[in-house]
Amino acid sequence: MKEFVRITASNRRRPRPDNKDLGFGRVFSDHMFLLDYTTDRGWHDPRIEPYAPFSMAPSAAVLHYAQAVFEGLKAYRGVDEKVRLFRPRDHVARLVRSMRRLCMPPIRAELALESLLALVEIDREWVPRGRGTALYIRPTVIATEAYLGLRPSETYTYFVILSPVGPYYSGALNPIKVVAFDEFSRSVPGGTGAIKTAGNYGGGLLAMEEAKKAGFDQVLWLDSVEHAYIDEIGNMNIMFRIGDEVVSPPLSDTILPGVTRDSALTLLRDWGVRVVERRIAIDEVADASRSGRLREVWGTGTAGVICPIGEIAHKDRRIAINGNGELTARLYDSLLAIQYGTADDMHGWMVEVGSRRS
Ligand SMILES: *Cc1c(COP(=O)(O)O)cnc(C)c1O
Repeated sequence: MKEFVRITASNRRRPRPDNKDLGFGRVFSDHMFLLDYTTDRGWHDPRIEPYAPFSMAPSAAVLHYAQAVFEGLKAYRGVDEKVRLFRPRDHVARLVRSMRRLCMPPIRAELALESLLALVEIDREWVPRGRGTALYIRPTVIATEAYLGLRPSETYTYFVILSPVGPYYSGALNPIKVVAFDEFSRSVPGGTGAIKTAGNYGGGLLAMEEAKKAGFDQVLWLDSVEHAYIDEIGNMNIMFRIGDEVVSPPLSDTILPGVTRDSALTLLRDWGVRVVERRIAIDEVADASRSGRLREVWGTGTAGVICPIGEIAHKDRRIAINGNGELTARLYDSLLAIQYGTADDMHGWMVEVGSRRS
């Protein structure tokens, strides 16, 4: 990487805030990674520069037609001070799938992986110390051509920025309250719900605001056809512990294939828990609650890793969850142990920064 990445002003060092002042996604590290695409040169000029605003034509396609995709993953500082990325290859593979869905020329997976490792290595001092903290990595691809005609852009920029994030939970896992609406949909069959593209998130803001106004933390997304089956929770995948089984909606073109989802299901299967991926209706969840069999519900995603859900509202129903959060806590602790290097990384999920130089 060092041979072909141009690095400018790499000795710039800004002060780093305390963990307690980090929050999520407000503070950015010293550097960013950039890579450009033109039809004649392909992807070219990989480089690391100081984190700074960049300029773009007001007519750039991304600003009008949302031809943009992104990823979100984390680098963790282990108890041994080594810095490791959690499943970066899976995130890169998903980025490439997102790019293809939005008619972008795919980037080479190996180059994308190198970009993450090289950037985090240069800014490794920005990886915070402490349980629950991490360096959030945001790779993004935008269409930059100055053209208002509607067709795939002929120029793109891939960039990666880094944001140190503080503990998501202060102390114990806090269960959140969620609400399902019939009048909003996140994604539709044949649409873009299974990829990380900018438009999906702008389109969800109004439902989020309505949920907050009604006193809830997140939106529980139902399928957009029948408003009967559960898709996701906020920007997380969802799992239900009903009786002795864990149920999670199956991947489809309306559900984002979460890396944390896959990791949680893998651990559950390792532990011998019966895991079923099938459609689950909100009515079934309400029935399970009434009969006392709805023991736990949690969301999975890079930001909060595992997020317990304490109450579900739908129309005039309030669905209570009866359990003690045993599996939720076990999953959270086990994933964190792998991420901070205190447990065996049996599945080879962690990729250490600075260990692949040839
Ligand atoms: C990113 C995201 C997730 C979680 O994916 P992870 O890979 O686990 O971070 C789930 N749902 C939506 C809609 C997302 O955007």
